[in-house]
Amino acid sequence: MVSLRADISPWTSDIGDLKQKNLYRHMPNISGIPGRIINVNGREALNFSSNNYLGLAGHPKIIEATVRSVREFGAGSTASRLIAGNTEIHRELERFIAEWKGVEATVLFGSGYQANVGVISGLMGPDDLIVSDELNHASIIDGCRLAKSRVIVYPHSDLNRVEDALRLSGFRRKLVVTESVFSMDGDRAPLQEMDSLCRKWGASLMVDEAHASGVLGPHGQGLASEMGVIPEIQMGTLGKAAGTSGAYVAGSKSLIELIVNRARSLIYTTAAPPGTIGAALEALKIVTSPEGDERRSRLARNNEMFNSLLYQELSIDTLPSHIVPVMIGDSGRTMSISAACIGGGIFAHGIRFPTVPEGTARLRFTLMSDHTHTDLKKAVNILKTAFENSRNDPKFTASAIDHAQVST
Ligand code: PMP
Repeated sequence: MVSLRADISPWTSDIGDLKQKNLYRHMPNISGIPGRIINVNGREALNFSSNNYLGLAGHPKIIEATVRSVREFGAGSTASRLIAGNTEIHRELERFIAEWKGVEATVLFGSGYQANVGVISGLMGPDDLIVSDELNHASIIDGCRLAKSRVIVYPHSDLNRVEDALRLSGFRRKLVVTESVFSMDGDRAPLQEMDSLCRKWGASLMVDEAHASGVLGPHGQGLASEMGVIPEIQMGTLGKAAGTSGAYVAGSKSLIELIVNRARSLIYTTAAPPGTIGAALEALKIVTSPEGDERRSRLARNNEMFNSLLYQELSIDTLPSHIVPVMIGDSGRTMSISAACIGGGIFAHGIRFPTVPEGTARLRFTLMSDHTHTDLKKAVNILKTAFENSRNDPKFTASAIDHAQVST
């Protein structure tokens, strides 16, 4: 057996480089069911870091449904949807989503990442133009790269620049792609205006509703519905507000037919396991029920309250949203403030380049319907203390940061 000495490994210098730039990442250890309280590296904290906006990940009915589906359909799907993995429960979930979203057809993907990569690269090719927001998620960026189309990245939500790009001619097809609620900023894309521009210039609109699906719009249909817009291609995830896993793409019959024929991240991968699909079906039943409405109203109230507390206590002026960026700038300082928050019992993860543009590191607070007003007050108080300490304490300078921001 060959034993490798760390000092000759080809990877160590890259790791050293990441550490030196305060961009080194590690995976915190989570245990138990992640709800309003989460156990991070053995320590309990109020959870402001998950996308479990409606608190459904631990819902007893969804857990039960998972077990039922596993009993009925088995532990695994055993093959791609296109070979032997297309079970009745997959089809039932697709029918449910189509009815919920008011579209002709839908198709499931194993994750939102797979959906964006597969759909964009499956529909678009070298003779096409893709117009993409500069803050779009990595999965959209990677889909654009794989499509090999001409890609124009426009400044965040800048409609003039979208129109400038759409004026260009000589392409087989044009696609404008945007998130609806932006994952790291919590703001909303101007979907009505984008839809009008797409109609004017003969382009298709693709909207990633990962952070709006289940949270906004009637019955949690998403932001597009709330704004009265029907994008040609709607993508949403099941691993965030729905508390389970996977993603869907919704649209016309022909769109879904082409995706099934072209999306490599659907064709060449094992279908999502029945347990996950059964769980997602139950989750969407809750999302679309009066219980879902009640959870959404609690979340909306929490968004407003957190927003006012941040302004009152810290003069932080953000939009009321379930995703709240607390901008810091420097990566090291961000991670040290995050560590101090954990020490005070608040889990708000630091977000750095390349997830967000360089120099815009931040704490990303995500709110849940289950947070109480006392939780929100505690979060803001702890954050305030962490900010003050960071300003006064020399160990909270960028150069002296221990990267293990949530170590015990
Ligand atoms: N799109 C957006 C906007 C996201 O934030 C994410 C996940 N962070 C994804 C897609 C990918 O979804 P999933 O986690 O299901 O792969």
